[in-house]
This record gives sequence, C-alpha cells and structure tokens, in this order.
Amino acid sequence: MSLIPEIVALKEELTAWRRDIHAHPELCFEEHRTSDLVAARLESFGIEVTRGIAKTGVVGTLKTGTGNRAIALRADMDALPLNEKNEFAYRSRHDGRMHACGHDGHTTILLGAARYLAKTRNFDGTVYFVFQPAEEGGGGGRIMVEEGLFDRFPAEAVYGLHNAPNYPAGKFFTRPGPVMAAASVFDLHVTGRGAHAARPESGLDAVVAAAHVVTALQTVVSRSISPFDTAVVSVTQIHGGDAYNIIPEDVLIRGNCRAYRTEVMDRIEATIRRVAENTASAHGASARLDFRRGYPPLINHARETEIACDAAALVVGEQNVDRNGAPRMASEDFAYMLEARPGAFIFMGNGDSEGSCDVHNPRYDFNDDILPVGASYFARLVEMTLPKSR
Ligand SMILES: [Zn+2]
Ligand SMILES: [Zn+2]
Repeated sequence: MSLIPEIVALKEELTAWRRDIHAHPELCFEEHRTSDLVAARLESFGIEVTRGIAKTGVVGTLKTGTGNRAIALRADMDALPLNEKNEFAYRSRHDGRMHACGHDGHTTILLGAARYLAKTRNFDGTVYFVFQPAEEGGGGGRIMVEEGLFDRFPAEAVYGLHNAPNYPAGKFFTRPGPVMAAASVFDLHVTGRGAHAARPESGLDAVVAAAHVVTALQTVVSRSISPFDTAVVSVTQIHGGDAYNIIPEDVLIRGNCRAYRTEVMDRIEATIRRVAENTASAHGASARLDFRRGYPPLINHARETEIACDAAALVVGEQNVDRNGAPRMASEDFAYMLEARPGAFIFMGNGDSEGSCDVHNPRYDFNDDILPVGASYFARLVEMTLPKSR
C-alpha cells in the first residue's frame, strides 16, 4: 500500500470532519450546513469556491501551472430518511435522517484530496472539486449538469467514487461499460366494476384481473428481453379492497424495474403496457400504466476506467484493483455526469467491520480507515492525469 504520507498524516483530522458530517445529516437539496462546511474548508485551503449550483451544490476550482487541461472529481453530500440505530457518540443528532450510504465519507475524502492538492500543487492544469446534493433520489447530479456544470467548469473527464460494504478495505473494483443499472418505477391502475361479494356475475373483479396481470408480468423479462441483456421487473406492492363482502373496483399494482441499457428499459415499459392492458381486458377490466424513469444506467468510459484503475493501483497495488469487477443492480445519479463527459466510477472496499453491513441499513457506518485510501486515490489521479512538464 502506497498511501500519500501527507494525507495519512491528516487521518485524525479527516476522521473528525467525517464524524461531524455524520452527526449532522441533511436530506436532498437541504444540505445547507454540509455545503457551508465544504465551502469554508475549500476556501481555507485557498481554493476558489462557486456555490448555488443545483441549490446546495459546491464547486471548488484549483488551477496551477500553465496547462489548459482540466478534470473534475465528484462527491455526494446527502443523507437518507432513516432512523440511525448506531449508538456511538457521533450518531445522527436528527431523527429520521442518517448518513447510511457513506456520503459523509465521500465528501470528506474529496476534501482531504483538495487540501493535499492545494498545498502540494504537484500537477499542471485545473481540478474541479464537485460536491453534489441529492444523490438519493433527487437527481442532484442531473440538475448540476442541466445548470451548466461542465460549461462553467469545462472538465475533459469526471471521476466519482463509492464505498462498497463487505468488500475488503484497501481494495478497489470497477469495470468499463455498464456498472450500475437504470431504475424505473411503475403504477398500474387496474379497474373493473365493483360488486357484492356474493354476486360476482354482476361485477368485473379487479382483484382477479390484477392477479393475472401480476402473473403475466413474470413473462416480461423471460419472453421479451434477450438472454444477453440483464433486466429485473419486480412487483412490490398490491393495494385493493377493504371489506370481506365487496369485490373492489380498483386495484393498484406497483413495481420496480432495472436494466443496464436504455433500449432494454424502453422495451420493458412497452411490454408491461401491452401485457397489462391485454391481460386486464381479457377479464373485462382495464389497466392504465404510469411508468416513471429514474436514473439512467451508469456507463463507465473505457479509457477513463483504465486511468481510474491505474490511479488506484498506484495507491493500493495492482493486485488490489479488480478491473473487471461485477456490476451492481443499484443505481446512481453520477450516471448523468457520465452522459455529459467521459469518466469513470470506482468502488472502494469499506471492509467487514460491524458498521459495514449494507448501505441504507440503520446500522451502517463509513469506515474511517479508508479515508486516506480514497483521498490518496483522487490525489494520485490528478497528479497522473495532469502531470507537471519536466
Ligand atoms: Zn445510497
Ligand atoms: Zn450512495
């Protein structure tokens, strides 16, 4: 392991920053305290700060030398609507809010890298430190891009990082191409005609129609999607009826879909509509689909993925970087930044300590031991991609 000594020396301070952010979690677009803290730290390092992009987003600009090249490094700042079950001193001070995805760690890592780079300036060009709000469902990354992030801060490439629980600390993995899935949700309104439970012949039973729809939806992936593509269609809720003696008129079916390609998600949507409408109609009922797209698939660019893995290998050694790691079915709004610019997203092991249960769990905690690993990774990435001319 070749961590950067100046960053290792900051570990205690980085840990204090991380725990402070952990104790004060803020939700989507409400990251006021966190964004104040990030801006103040960046300014104290002598980095130029721009605020107010996507409401609470912050961008730090650090230019050194004469080079015109620029890269962007991104961290997310938001927490989750969850009651923390950890008991340690720095647990969340707010009910219903918790840093359960490690964004407190990601923010601290990028601050650590910024501090080192501002001090040593061992590179030539410009680094943009992008701190985004609202990764957890709010699409803060998309809004930053829409508000002109890469026009105002013209980076040739953008890099992001996420911790990976139950993956060894000090190891990285990623891969070129699809790394995280596109996500969509749907509401299917199945409508029949209500009736007395004792007189089914006088109604059109929405419950029976909905039951057939749910069963028929199991064929969407198996019969309409190529075996070479990955897709998930899950029905996750059914709501209908509230009495023993009434055949309900309406049933609501809800679900969640994942895919690694937008074309596959298009096909899932069209097939759900066709199967649901026609299956309901076979029972005299109707089905209306409301299909809502979430984040697009996160697609790593091949060249930048090599660069990211090379930087990680400089820090933890080639044997600790899996360049063809398994993709994940979760989704990430860094995907929008990778639609706008070449770049790569990499995962860093959070280890297998007690807090390293899965993210979004009320007992999760970011592992402070990997703060210097992540900060060294970003720092080496900059020094490697924007080298000083000798
Ligand atoms: Zn998350
Ligand atoms: Zn996350």
